[in-house]
Amino acid sequence: MSTYNKVLLALDLSDESDQLRDKARSIASANQAELHVIHVIEPLSFAYGGDVPMDLTSIQEQLDEHANQKLNSFCEALDYPVTSKIVATGQTESEIHRIADEEKIDLIIVGSHGRHGIALLLGSTANGVLHGANCDVLAIRVRDKEE
Ligand code: AMP
Repeated sequence: MSTYNKVLLALDLSDESDQLRDKARSIASANQAELHVIHVIEPLSFAYGGDVPMDLTSIQEQLDEHANQKLNSFCEALDYPVTSKIVATGQTESEIHRIADEEKIDLIIVGSHGRHGIALLLGSTANGVLHGANCDVLAIRVRDKEE
């Protein structure tokens, strides 16, 4: 019997995402689970408080296209069937929770920098995903390039 049937892998699509690939594959494979991957793009208007005197639509579209390309390359190198590749727009943690609920995910995998001190107090995506998730969350330690 599988512990997990539906796994959601959250990717920021930085170089560090590669560090999540092998463990995500082994967990999905050991459970013969469906693997879904998600990348969230925060709208540019969020960064500028929604008060930008220009049309950001085409820049946003380019960001979406770039994210889709990076997600496709990541999945090609994954060597495991990916049930859905999701590029969502919104607040990262909320979108991960929304998709996890919609898809009835039972395990969310995120990367974690193992921050401590003030950086931990300021929060991390892993922390934000854990709080409010309706399923298990696995935080995989990722190392900064200079570590
Ligand atoms: P952070 O705390 O922002 O350094 O991110 C740690 C982990 O959170 C990453 O390894 C991803 O698993 C997840 N994450 C961060 N940003 C995003 C994003 N925009 N979309 C999906 N997952 C993300």
